[in-house]
Amino acid sequence: MHKQIILKPKRDESLKRFHPWIFSGAIAKYTEKPTDGEIVDVLTNDKLFIARGHYQTGSIACRIITFENEEIDEKFWFKRISNAYKLREKLGLVKNEQTTAYRLIHGEGDMLPGLIVDIYGQTAVIQAHSAGMLYERKMICEILNKIYDSKLTAIYDKSSATAPINPDTNVVDEYLLGNKKEDIVLEYGNKFLVNWEEGQKTGFFLDQRENRKILEQYTEKSHVLNTFCYTGGFSVSALRGGANLVHSVDSSQKAIELTQKNIELNFGKNVNHQTFADDAFSFIRNAENNFYDVIILDPPAFAKHNSALKNAIQAYKRLNAAAIAKIKPNGILFTFSCSQAVDKTSFRNAVFSAAAICKRNVRILHQLTQPADHPVNIYHPEGEYLKGLVLYVE
Ligand code: SAH
Repeated sequence: MHKQIILKPKRDESLKRFHPWIFSGAIAKYTEKPTDGEIVDVLTNDKLFIARGHYQTGSIACRIITFENEEIDEKFWFKRISNAYKLREKLGLVKNEQTTAYRLIHGEGDMLPGLIVDIYGQTAVIQAHSAGMLYERKMICEILNKIYDSKLTAIYDKSSATAPINPDTNVVDEYLLGNKKEDIVLEYGNKFLVNWEEGQKTGFFLDQRENRKILEQYTEKSHVLNTFCYTGGFSVSALRGGANLVHSVDSSQKAIELTQKNIELNFGKNVNHQTFADDAFSFIRNAENNFYDVIILDPPAFAKHNSALKNAIQAYKRLNAAAIAKIKPNGILFTFSCSQAVDKTSFRNAVFSAAAICKRNVRILHQLTQPADHPVNIYHPEGEYLKGLVLYVE
């Protein structure tokens, strides 16, 4: 018998619409106070079962795992993780010779809130964002081994930066299988060195895969500026598309070194590519006018929380205005926001204001988002975190 959370009157509305979170303010009382990570039953104010999930201290007090009155045991997790695997099979990602890195589990998008699993060749990298998923990681590891028929050679748990810290959870990153720390993966045939121990997030930004592919169509014989380049994903695509010159900018020296390595892996040393360890805002401001045909803006999340929303929108506006002012006539701007708190309309309005400040004709060519291996649970629209626009700037 699980401990129970009893909701305040009418606070079950969002659960009736299958939203997978309960905020602490919606809770009337507990039968007994749960500990972090414990599985709890959620009851309506008149004590009817409505859902079951992981309890957590904080504003999101419960992440719903099921709306059915079913046992949450190894069989249950196996079914959920297999479903995620089957979807990636359907997407053609599992046995793909050209693309060997993909997201296997995308939290709420795979009905596994609080859990991320990325696959890099024969390595799985796990990131738990909740105590509940953190406690399940050994079992998740066993299930991954079963599903991949023991073909995974390493499973790395990288939850120290993402799992909620409380005095009882001493989270260290560790190998649950093997100990390989990096590998070369393929994305549409392009090679990338991924180091999950040292890299950002799980090591690579898989969510830009399809957008990098689109960039390839626009770079022939052009001058390309890739800002916030990290491991140089967009730079590799730009060169693959036939760019005459690519400039990659990131404020982190480490990111610049990774970009350099990835360029060499794909094109050798003698290629028209230069790196700059610099602030992207000032780099763009100091750039020559009308020099770049294509500019990519893929900054980190400016708004991690709703409280930072106003400043974030201003930052998107400034950044986009700087790029729109500099780009060559008839240039192409790829601009992104990965802030969950900034919705599609607000991002678009920020870019709209930026265009208006520059008084240039701007048309939207593509509206971009995250790829299908980062699915959005329709009941959890917040899951659509990546927004992008490809603009034609006259
Ligand atoms: N476009 C990348 C992902 C970008 S992640 C890809 O396709 O993989 C964001 C990057 O922005 C990080 O590498 C971080 O080091 C860099 N960054 C953060 N602030 C910056 C700034 N002010 N100027 C330049 N780079 C910055």
